[in-house]
Amino acid sequence: MKSQYRVVVIGGGVVGASVLYHLAKFGWSDVVMLERRRLASGSSWHAAGGIHALNADPNMASLQAYTIDLLSEIEKESGQNIGLHMTGGLTLAGTPERWEWLQANYRIFQSIGIDDCELLTQQEAQKRCPIMSTEGVLGAMWADREGYIDTTGTVQAYATAARKRGAEYYEETKVEELIQSDEGWKVVTDKGTITCEHVVNAAGLWAKQVGRMAGVELPVSPLKHHYLITDTVPEVAAADFEMPMTVDLEGFTYMRQDQKGVLVGIYEVDHEHWAMDGAPWNYGEELFQEQLDRIENELTLGFERYPSIQNVGIKTWVNGAFTFSPDGNPLVGPVPGKRGYWSACAVMAGFLQGGGVGKTLAEWMIHGEPEADAWSMDVARYGDYAQNKRYIRETTGQFYSRRFVMTYPNEQLPAGRPLKMAPAHDAMTEAGCKWGVSWDLEVPLYFAPKGFEETPTLKRSNAHDIVTEECKAIREGVGLMDISGFSRFEVTGPNAEAWLDRVMASKLPAPGRAKLAPMLGKDGRLKGDLTVLNWGDGTWWIMGSYYLRAWHKRWFDDHMIDGVELRDLGEEYCGFAVVGPKSQAVVEKLAEQDISGLKFMGCGDFDIGLVRARVARMSVTGEKGYEINCRYGDHIKLRRILLEAGAEEGLREVGFNAMGSTRLEKSFGIWSAEFTQAYTPGMTGMDRWIDWEKEFVGKEAALAERNGNGPAQVQATLEIDAVDADASGYEPIWANGERVGFVTSGGYGHYTGKSLAMALIDRDKAEPGTELSVHVVGVERSARVVAPSPYDPQGKAMRGWS
Ligand SMILES: Cc1cc2nc3c(=O)[nH]c(=O)nc-3n(C[C@H](O)[C@H](O)[C@H](O)COP(=O)(O)OP(=O)(O)OC[C@H]3O[C@@H](n4cnc5c(N)ncnc54)[C@H](O)[C@@H]3O)c2cc1C
Repeated sequence: MKSQYRVVVIGGGVVGASVLYHLAKFGWSDVVMLERRRLASGSSWHAAGGIHALNADPNMASLQAYTIDLLSEIEKESGQNIGLHMTGGLTLAGTPERWEWLQANYRIFQSIGIDDCELLTQQEAQKRCPIMSTEGVLGAMWADREGYIDTTGTVQAYATAARKRGAEYYEETKVEELIQSDEGWKVVTDKGTITCEHVVNAAGLWAKQVGRMAGVELPVSPLKHHYLITDTVPEVAAADFEMPMTVDLEGFTYMRQDQKGVLVGIYEVDHEHWAMDGAPWNYGEELFQEQLDRIENELTLGFERYPSIQNVGIKTWVNGAFTFSPDGNPLVGPVPGKRGYWSACAVMAGFLQGGGVGKTLAEWMIHGEPEADAWSMDVARYGDYAQNKRYIRETTGQFYSRRFVMTYPNEQLPAGRPLKMAPAHDAMTEAGCKWGVSWDLEVPLYFAPKGFEETPTLKRSNAHDIVTEECKAIREGVGLMDISGFSRFEVTGPNAEAWLDRVMASKLPAPGRAKLAPMLGKDGRLKGDLTVLNWGDGTWWIMGSYYLRAWHKRWFDDHMIDGVELRDLGEEYCGFAVVGPKSQAVVEKLAEQDISGLKFMGCGDFDIGLVRARVARMSVTGEKGYEINCRYGDHIKLRRILLEAGAEEGLREVGFNAMGSTRLEKSFGIWSAEFTQAYTPGMTGMDRWIDWEKEFVGKEAALAERNGNGPAQVQATLEIDAVDADASGYEPIWANGERVGFVTSGGYGHYTGKSLAMALIDRDKAEPGTELSVHVVGVERSARVVAPSPYDPQGKAMRGWS
């Protein structure tokens, strides 16, 4: 072992080995992986080795598809047998809603290029898995690329392939301390100290402790998990093919063949955490005693699903632990505030996702950015709030117990909530507010009559008419919306303007003005859809999506220069928006200064009643509107005075559901849908805000796009002939049977009365009037491209022109 490397990967499980392999593959061979015992001696050795294509998150499904394809490659490269059995796999639907969900997901898979799936009837499914009872099965999805592998062999294969490419790994070498220095990191091990530029935490069950070694508190916890392996099952032994990997979602089990018996794994509803502060250092290749009382119900369902296993013995019980983040996705990427410290942990399904995690992290370290949009596994998708132990326990537990439970798009889950509440939260609840959550903050969805409960559904919700009323208030009267759920950064200092001018691709606004500002990465892809406000007193604000706070902050910090002070105002400022044609009348009543001259996209300081507020005349709803930003201490008062002042104009409180519908009617894109870090300004229409005359981060790449042949796909707005359900995202779009794009976001335009979607479509199909079709909740619907902004295309309402 040398005393200096470029990268030290801590942990020789499947994830660490994949990171090591990808670093070496992409050209960094001065890398070493340290393992305190033997390879695969954490969670990895006792995994069930199952590989499935299905994941409700399309980005994770793509990651899994990459990993599955990689497996035979590393087997070949390493010469190490990984025991790959590509049996194909079944996912069973046991309720009508689940069957609908599966059909919808089948289409979403097509959207993201996973084409080797098919939908099967109950009888067809049974033919492929003859040991299964079809009781309650309404249908199934088949995927070719599913099966299982030998877990220890797979870890060995990654590590051997990495070594063949020049990387090193050492077993029986425990990292005991991490010390950050100006040059990078000192990694203190029981075999000596190594200096390096980068450290990767791939410590699996011990990730929490390896985080703490660097002063990092990662939101991760181990939970226990059971599977059993049966003795020989005569029907299995007699079959001339292998049973497929079969997931029974309503039964909470997965099953695969194991020699002449089967392995049945259980997602326990009655979950149990273990070693929340990380596994003990003396924990090795041990298992826990099985806990049958905790899994009795799921076990019964499993034995009913595969009746032949009732007559055979159980050869092996495994009750082991593996790690989860609050949303179940991995924690990957550069840890904010710790230069050169990278996370590759909380990988719940390392054999299924580890390849993709290794690839993503290696690209990130080497090129500065991963190739694909890594948001859904980015360690910076969480803020400091997620360090709280109870939050971690509740959210990881909820994810685990619901792993096979269907979650509806309009469903609100309770774990870790309410966490942060804007000051007027209780008064708004009293007024009927139904809450959603963005990051740590409760955000208003809509205001309902007392006793109203929303029913979870894949289709239009029973809150539909309430949202229609709120949209009508916004379009015809005046609505009041809590906008605490926007992010606000303050930029000051002698170099504030120069810095903003460089990181934002747009022209900067003049004093007293606001401007939409795309922010690009060096590779010319999007990094933000922000609004910059110039308050005219040397203070600038950047406003954006609240849930991106830590993610944007990491980016700002990474690109910071001297002479600039950046503050996240997320704990200081909140506010209300007053939106609609009558908004000016309401705000004027309260403003101590003349606010009538504040033009569209103007901003300034105003006294709104007794509240000192920073007001901007803009609204994402496409109506005339005022965003009134106040200090947290003024939030309750601001709401009260606005409600009083607006009573005469019929002011009505509205929520984010109405905001979502009105913005769709205006074809205003949002982050994580129309805009992501995988898309470019040309694809998304963001290029119209770029100032090509100036220098900015990403200009070279953005210019190359502009001067090239143009993007293959562009944004378009669709009107869909949907009756009882709307598109939501990732649905495939067809032209004469050929897939030509996918929905980026969709919903009902409550004021226009149309089912709308925004989409990325092949350029030659994006012309208004083009007839297309879209699968909405699995059912093909006719659709057509319409001109952007189905409501008020000239923008008269938001500008206040009559
Ligand atoms: C019962 C069960 C069934 C499962 N079934 C599946 C399945 O079918 N498919 C699937 O994809 N996944 C499955 N999993 C999950 C899978 O096991 C994990 O996702 C995977 O093992 C995580 O790998 P890892 O490399 O992140 O962590 P680990 O395997 O825990 O590896 C971390 C390594 O880091 C080492 N380490 C820690 N601290 C230090 C230090 N300070 N110095 C040096 N070394 C250190 C440890 O010794 C360990 O070897 C299952 C898990 C369980 C418990």
